[in-house]
Amino acid sequence: MTPLQRTAHFRPEDDDRLVAASLACPWCLSADTGWQLRMIPFDEGAECRCRGCGQRWNLAVTSEQALRLALEPAAAH
Ligand SMILES: [Zn+2]
Repeated sequence: MTPLQRTAHFRPEDDDRLVAASLACPWCLSADTGWQLRMIPFDEGAECRCRGCGQRWNLAVTSEQALRLALEPAAAH
């Protein structure tokens, strides 16, 4: 299956719940996801994986969003 490319839609100052929502599984909407930041300049992203249905996808984030995720891993990690 082709990995899906998604874009994070939270602002760095957003509430934890909004950050968590943007990390939820796009297929089954489970919030039980794992993710790992990929800090490559101009290609920051998070490689996400759903513990519920096993899907994987790539979440594109801005450097500000990446920083927020790195400092405050609000969601399940
Ligand atoms: Zn899922």
